[in-house]
Amino acid sequence: MLLYHSQDFEGHNTGSHPECIERITRVNEMLSTNGWLDKCSRPQWKLATPDQCQRIHTESYLTKLQQWCEDDAGRIEVDTVVSNRSWNAALMGAGAACDAVERVIRGEDSKAFCAIRPPGHHAIPDNAMGFCLLNNVAIAARHAKTLGLERVMIVDWDIHHGNGTQDAFWDDPTVAFVSIHRFPFYPGTGKEDEIGGGAAKGTKKNIPIPASTTAKDFLAKLMDATDALAAQFKPQLMLLSAGFDAHRADPVGGLSLEETDFETATKWIVELASTHCNGRLVSLLEGGYNLTHMPQSVDAHLRGLTAS
Ligand SMILES: [Zn+2]
Repeated sequence: MLLYHSQDFEGHNTGSHPECIERITRVNEMLSTNGWLDKCSRPQWKLATPDQCQRIHTESYLTKLQQWCEDDAGRIEVDTVVSNRSWNAALMGAGAACDAVERVIRGEDSKAFCAIRPPGHHAIPDNAMGFCLLNNVAIAARHAKTLGLERVMIVDWDIHHGNGTQDAFWDDPTVAFVSIHRFPFYPGTGKEDEIGGGAAKGTKKNIPIPASTTAKDFLAKLMDATDALAAQFKPQLMLLSAGFDAHRADPVGGLSLEETDFETATKWIVELASTHCNGRLVSLLEGGYNLTHMPQSVDAHLRGLTAS
């Protein structure tokens, strides 16, 4: 398996914020302590290029974002903070996602996990949102398209709706999107009747769930809806927005999953990728804010990814 990780993600200093430096420090420590650095291939990769970013984001937003970071601007949006090394971290995250997609399509390995921050799935084409600067998973999906793939599927199990990802592909019938998320909850979108527009109708599937949903129901709903859409859509690559904020101990989330549930979900999506796309699966870290259980959930995720 391909593993993307770097201490440079610690350069994105957000101060006392739930999406803090410590998150990735703890993940990196876990990767080392639990032997993942030895077990996985660890490619070198480049920053995302302006072209790659502009396939999702407007040029004016990218210029503004770079300037905000250079200016050490702090809060640029109600929930989102940048500092002078945030631009580099954001480009590294999106670059890792693109590099993973390239290597997986090339057949160097079938699976990849990118231990990146800031997260991406709330970032919309013309702005930052909800701790996210660049929409890593959306940039990766478009990159896969430029490499010749015709159908890409994105699964988002972060507790929040992947509104930025949905926006990017709302009218695009070549990218399927499934999101399970607590509702009503931030960011307020992701109702069941949001299914895509025009020719893309039916390629987007939202599963809004109340906070009282059990882990068992969460998994069943996610699996049933995704299996059905995948059977119809026949993806050539699976991308995963892997947030771990549905964990019972998450300070932001409020659902009830345990590490073992993330391992179960991972084994299921590995199987799904093997059924439809020769096992091709690229997973990107999104949310997860408990500094003990998020890294342990990533560990469970990696066990699931490497189980077969
Ligand atoms: Zn989240």
